[in-house]
Order: sequence, then C-alpha cells, then structure tokens
Amino acid sequence: PFWFILCGNMLKIFRFMEFLFFFYYKTVNVLIFPLYFCMISTNQHEEVKMMIYTEKVIPFENRAGGKGTGILRIAMEDEQLEGRAKAIMSVTLHPGSSIGSHQHVGNLEIYYVLKGEGIFTVNGKSEPIHAGQAGSMNPGDWHSIENTGSEDMLISAVILYE
Ligand code: MN
Repeated sequence: PFWFILCGNMLKIFRFMEFLFFFYYKTVNVLIFPLYFCMISTNQHEEVKMMIYTEKVIPFENRAGGKGTGILRIAMEDEQLEGRAKAIMSVTLHPGSSIGSHQHVGNLEIYYVLKGEGIFTVNGKSEPIHAGQAGSMNPGDWHSIENTGSEDMLISAVILYE
C-alpha cells in the first residue's frame, strides 16, 4: 500500500524523530510505536531476496543402464536448496526410453508425471503411470521408469533426504 512505501522511504526521518521524541517527549514515544512497527515491517520486506536458478541441461543415453535417450534438467541441487533436499529437476524421456534400475541410499525420489505415460518400477514391482500421477519410494529402494507411450514423457522429480 501507498503509506507502507511512504514509511519505507521515510525510514531515516522517522528514526531521527523517534530519537528526538525519546529524549524530549518520552510519553509521545508510545504514539510513535505504530510507526516504528511499520518501519520494521517495511525494512524486512525490503531485505527479501529473490532467488532464481537456471536449470542445467544434461542430455543422456542409456541412463543407469536404461534404454534410449532423454534429457535431464537439474534446476536446483542441495547447495542451492541449503541441504533441505538433494535435487529438484525434470526428466524428458523419449518414446521407448527408460532410466534403468538404480538405488537411492539415504534419500528418496518422487517422480511426478506431467506428460505422457509409462511404467514405474520399485524393487522389481511395476505399475503403469501417466500424466497426473506421482510415484514414490522409500530410501534404499531400487527404481526405474520407462516411457511406453508414443509421445515424450515429462517427469518432475524431487530427491529428498531421508
Ligand atoms: Mn532415481
């Protein structure tokens, strides 16, 4: 709102005013409190950092012993995620392609299918999966995914620490 912006711009003036009031009109300081609160709120707002990360694009072939080709796009890794998760990424799997069976130790991966259809496998148990569905697993599990459809499969993936 307008008056918040005004408060932000007048931060130094208000602080000086408060300084004066504190010494010369101690009781008036109570009236300044709402303004001071506003200044603090505005100040915190100004310190918000916008963090935008650009994906690393990694084309792959026979990933983890899988078939065919695809593209891995890693948006953020644990350093950017400040240790809260291991990675956030997307996987494009071309028709007939797969990511072979691999194990997640100390972490787990969730595949959220955004486009296409395929087969999701955890510890040898396979289920069909399609756009709008997510497949999860437990840490230590082995998993794989295969695009069995006729279009590209687009998967959003997040790897969370155990
Ligand atoms: Mn995985």
